[in-house]
Amino acid sequence: MQDERKTLDDRNRMTELERLRHSCAHVMATAILRLWPDAQFAAGPPVENGFYYDVDLQHRITPEDFPAIEAEMKKEIKANHTFEKVVVTREQAIQDSESGRLGGLSERPGNLSKFKLGNLEAIPDGEPITYFKNGDFIDLCAGPHVMRTGNVGAYKLTSVASAYYKGDEKNPQLQRIYGTAFKNKTELEAYFKMMEEAKRRDHRKIGAEMGLYTIDTEYTGPGLPLWLPKGGAVLEELEKLAKETEFAAGYVRVKTPHIAKEKMYLTSGHLPLLYADSMYPPMELKETKDAPAAERYYLKAMNCPHHHRIFAAEPRSYRDMPLRLAEYGTCYRYEQSGELFGLMRVRSLNMNDAHIYCTAEQFAQEFNAVNGMYLKYFKIFGIEKSVMRFSTHSKEGLGKKYVNEPELWIQTENMVRDVLKSSGINYVEVPNEAAFYGPKIDVQVWSVIGREFTLATNQVDFAVPRKFGLVYRDRDNTDKTPLCIHRAPLGTHERFIGFLIEHYAGNFPLWLAPEQVRVLTIGEEEPLVNYAKAIVQELRASMVRAEGDYSNDKINGKIQQAEQAKVHTMLVVGPRDMAANAVSVRVHGKGSLGAKPKAEVVAEILQAIRERRA
Ligand SMILES: [Zn+2]
Ligand SMILES: [Zn+2]
Repeated sequence: MQDERKTLDDRNRMTELERLRHSCAHVMATAILRLWPDAQFAAGPPVENGFYYDVDLQHRITPEDFPAIEAEMKKEIKANHTFEKVVVTREQAIQDSESGRLGGLSERPGNLSKFKLGNLEAIPDGEPITYFKNGDFIDLCAGPHVMRTGNVGAYKLTSVASAYYKGDEKNPQLQRIYGTAFKNKTELEAYFKMMEEAKRRDHRKIGAEMGLYTIDTEYTGPGLPLWLPKGGAVLEELEKLAKETEFAAGYVRVKTPHIAKEKMYLTSGHLPLLYADSMYPPMELKETKDAPAAERYYLKAMNCPHHHRIFAAEPRSYRDMPLRLAEYGTCYRYEQSGELFGLMRVRSLNMNDAHIYCTAEQFAQEFNAVNGMYLKYFKIFGIEKSVMRFSTHSKEGLGKKYVNEPELWIQTENMVRDVLKSSGINYVEVPNEAAFYGPKIDVQVWSVIGREFTLATNQVDFAVPRKFGLVYRDRDNTDKTPLCIHRAPLGTHERFIGFLIEHYAGNFPLWLAPEQVRVLTIGEEEPLVNYAKAIVQELRASMVRAEGDYSNDKINGKIQQAEQAKVHTMLVVGPRDMAANAVSVRVHGKGSLGAKPKAEVVAEILQAIRERRA
């Protein structure tokens, strides 16, 4: 059912919607077979926002075929067949593959179910082999599904692509048919409406139109965004917010280099294996011409090891704890070029990072404060829906996927769970998805149009501080290892600004807007232009990003230009405004708010920015 076989555990965790979508893939396969009985199916898992099924077929399926396939699907759903589970022996399954019965409506002599046979071989000995039947269609599948085909509510085929069997380019190329399904038609329609809106708000499109960032693949490299002045302004505002918030919460700021010696990552355990694929290859250099060996340096893929060395730089006592080290650190991660996507998947990341070193007794309060910081940010950005995904370890993975400290796992997971429960924060617990050195909390938020984003990750780390030999002198005069909380509520600038562009459709609130105010003159007479320039100067002296448009163009054209550039506030001045020491205010998307005394308007602008008003 999957490219990479999912464990039975993973399958049990399939959500209701994923079951429905995967069941719809069976229905689609049934329909395709009614139209092209020689079709051979490979894998048909649910994916984000829908499902696909890989099919091998002479006929090239195009979107023109979708209505016919959907019509056949409708019949299968109307027939309301049960998804019937049958446990079979491996011999039986091999026999059925050879007769072409698997992934088919009937036996197909001479048309071996070759991909199903391949999938069968991937099932480990001892694991049950199961078929799922709906009507005439029999599939080799571990499930789970909905009860009946009639439970597949509303569906739509969306696209077709090509894919190699098991993702390996040495294998045959298949046609990948994508679709989506929902419980009912209302939800399906809402989804397509949201996707349409998301397209209109695409951060790559708006980012280019507004001149926020560019990716110069030829000179800088793929996945390495260059922030243009307007994007730089947004980025600076976010940093300012983080710095103020963290300062008030007792954080101290540090600054660390972008590279470190190999020893750093060998100690943290990211090298030689765990993280090597996600790091840029090392640089080698000899300190002196006749040094015996070259030193290896790596671009940092995370800030934590550097912060650990800062912790270790001075003797620490219980009186220094908690120690909250914060940095907007730039990290570099090597993502496959096919994975890169605008600001969402990049290779250089400006991270709203901090590491909190604390004692076990301090943990609950510190972790609670981190959650509180999230909620404060959500309010500022008008994020109304969020969930914390709390990923825990599994016993089976100890010593392999997870550091082998069974008691510490249970202890820290309990601490995290207690805080999540008592804080009343919306969370779900996901077993067997923790990080290597401790439980992890992924923070998922929904943009205003209802699209889901993973913004940030918190981790509780009880292992790496020990690897670095970090200790503090406790009250009883013994050395103890601190716990470390990794947290980044604003995630990376890249992902967060990508999210905000969609969330606001580029119409940033005043405090975040790249160009906050533009003063527009009606005409270009010198006294009027001087009046306008003085307003711009006054605003800029208070750190407001204000510009002037003093050209002789028609005022309507000038307003239109400012609207297009998504300037937040326009101050239009004509001779009459000047005489009254006033300005006519327009707000982007809201239109004219009328003429007001200049001093009042300036004070109002400063106030709204100070409050970071929505
Ligand atoms: Zn299935
Ligand atoms: Zn970290």
